[in-house]
Amino acid sequence: MDIIKGIGVSSGVATCSAVMLDAEDYRVPRRTVANPQIRREVMRLRDAFLQASQEVSTLQIAQADLDNKIKDIFAVHLHFLRDRTLRKRIAELIRRQKFTAEYAVSVTMRDIAKNFAQTPDSYISERVNDIYDIEKRLLRHLMGSRREDLRHLTEPVIVVAHDLTPTQTAAFDKQFVRGIATDAGGRTSHTAIVARSLGIPAVVALNEVTQRVAAGDTIIVDGNRGTVIINPDAAAVQEYKKYAAAIVEHVHELGGLALLPAETKDGTRVTLHGNIEFPYEAQITLQKGGEGIGLYRTEFLYLEADHEPTEQEHYQAYMDTIQICGQRPITIRTMDLGADKFTQKRLTSPERNPFLGLRSIRYCLQNQSMFKTQIRAILRASVHGNIKIMFPLITNLMELRQAKWILAEVKEDLEEQQIAFDDNLPVGIMIETPAAALIAEHLANEVDFFSIGTNDLIQYTLAVDRVNETVASLYSPAHPAVLQLIKQVHRAARRANIDVHVCGEMASELEFIPVLLGLGYTSLSLAPPMIPEVKKLIRSVTLSYCRGLARKVMNFDTDQQVTNYLRAELQELIDEVAGDKR
Ligand code: PEP
Ligand code: MG
Repeated sequence: MDIIKGIGVSSGVATCSAVMLDAEDYRVPRRTVANPQIRREVMRLRDAFLQASQEVSTLQIAQADLDNKIKDIFAVHLHFLRDRTLRKRIAELIRRQKFTAEYAVSVTMRDIAKNFAQTPDSYISERVNDIYDIEKRLLRHLMGSRREDLRHLTEPVIVVAHDLTPTQTAAFDKQFVRGIATDAGGRTSHTAIVARSLGIPAVVALNEVTQRVAAGDTIIVDGNRGTVIINPDAAAVQEYKKYAAAIVEHVHELGGLALLPAETKDGTRVTLHGNIEFPYEAQITLQKGGEGIGLYRTEFLYLEADHEPTEQEHYQAYMDTIQICGQRPITIRTMDLGADKFTQKRLTSPERNPFLGLRSIRYCLQNQSMFKTQIRAILRASVHGNIKIMFPLITNLMELRQAKWILAEVKEDLEEQQIAFDDNLPVGIMIETPAAALIAEHLANEVDFFSIGTNDLIQYTLAVDRVNETVASLYSPAHPAVLQLIKQVHRAARRANIDVHVCGEMASELEFIPVLLGLGYTSLSLAPPMIPEVKKLIRSVTLSYCRGLARKVMNFDTDQQVTNYLRAELQELIDEVAGDKR
């Protein structure tokens, strides 16, 4: 049994066998095994060679009428895969150095590729890519599962990977993918956000989970405590069975809150909305007791398709959401592409600092026809529901004005074409940078509402990459600078008499809810599965308690003090609620 600690980013627990997802360009980690496992590694190697050569033979037969060049490639692959000396050489490495089969394959094939590349004979040097292909094929068999196989799962698994893109995660079949464990990632990476929305327990920032797990190992993912247990003993399995049952019971109990208002004990009404990436999540939001959609991350429309979404595709997605929500509010955020939300395929020339680069509104302002297509669809949908439009990552007034000009232009076009739209469509912006927070009083004069994106606000305020596990411990909503900015934005909104919401992950972190209420925030938008838990907490506090707590917290000067204090307060609240029930 082996326990690794990471960051729990999506709550819940799962016990299943592991499948390994390999990122194509990911180097296999150097990993050794204990003596008794050497035989197993050699057997795995033999099986991988056998399966890979059978696979190539099948391909060769299925595509017999291909031209000679391709036949030649298959022949080369088969030659290597049936070469006993090659297999022996790798097996020798496993026995001598105790390497895992994966690492031994990788080292050997790369060595061969290097030698091939250096020969003057062009026929041989051109074979280098074939060697890499053979390496990948063998690794795929060793790692147990190819990425595309995840679409055809027939039994529950836990996905173990170095890292996952938000799109990969969004494509997981929740019925079978019961847990996620990755080496990389941070609490507010979009992969984590998607896992949370799907309700799949996930632990990220495990650093070396891919080195310590082999495909087929049984593992426990504990998204609540942020741990992964590899090959648990019988006692751990038993304990987790009980724990999982307790969680199911707890979720069931929370279900009873769906119809009750999110209201503090002294009668302050709080609005809870859902953050969604896909229209179907609107249904989950309502089931969980959400009253509308506070953040629709429309870039997922772009990410899941292999083409730029058409106006009709946008319109359809918005209409699908309206159909579910009726006249409840839906805040559509215009595409927030870039940073960690680019498919690899589209990222032809990677930026050096993608989070500081051409992302979000900047990307839209430089790609106006794409931007206008989306705005047209939003405006057309606006006559059917209670729609608001929101621009992300605004950092200065000019960006906001430009975005509003484009909106006005699209309105004019629609008017000319006599296409109906809501001329009073509320326009808001996300406050996600210290720059925007600091000029909030100016921005407030030109918009109908603010929504604080704490995920980015924290990253830009503290200069901590939100997806980088090596600095994850520095990423904290409790930093006094972050709290000051959040306080300031509320003050600016109140003075200008505009609405203000919080839609970053901070709005679902229980210890921060009383602080946000205490600072005056009464509208939160969060991952739908978290709504009941947050509602329960709101119903267990009074506004005067929250104000006192916020005052106290604003006087601390380190994030550790803030965190310790808030955790202790939260524990007291939880104990109190448990006491009331008894
Ligand atoms: C945020 O930054 O807090 C936010 C809600 O937007 P996203 O997580 O999509 O960047
Ligand atoms: Mg953001």
